[in-house]
Amino acid sequence: MVLKGSCHCKKIQFELKITPAHLTECNCSICYRIGARWAHADNSEVNIICDDSDLINYSWGDKLIIFCSCKHCGCTTHWKSMDAQESTRMAVNTRMVEQSFTKNINVRHFDGADSFVFID
Ligand SMILES: [Zn+2]
Repeated sequence: MVLKGSCHCKKIQFELKITPAHLTECNCSICYRIGARWAHADNSEVNIICDDSDLINYSWGDKLIIFCSCKHCGCTTHWKSMDAQESTRMAVNTRMVEQSFTKNINVRHFDGADSFVFID
């Protein structure tokens, strides 16, 4: 199954080519604010369909990953590694996916704020 998602104004679209084993809610300082529900994947398992000029790229702290949001409607759609040689992991925000497509996927809670382990 391909999970398709988009920001509110649809300028940023993505296709996740795998069905994730679970979705992740993280309580770190940024994920908590965004309210994201991530599906993690390899770069090769995701198509991001957008014009790069429509993206806001945000990086903070040790700047290992970049959070990408739509500059028109503000939705955060995905994050990716700053350096694709370093890591090919990324995640898409399944809050951008039609609810009916994700309602049967288990949601796990990750303690990104502190212990860096799942706390469910
Ligand atoms: Zn948008």
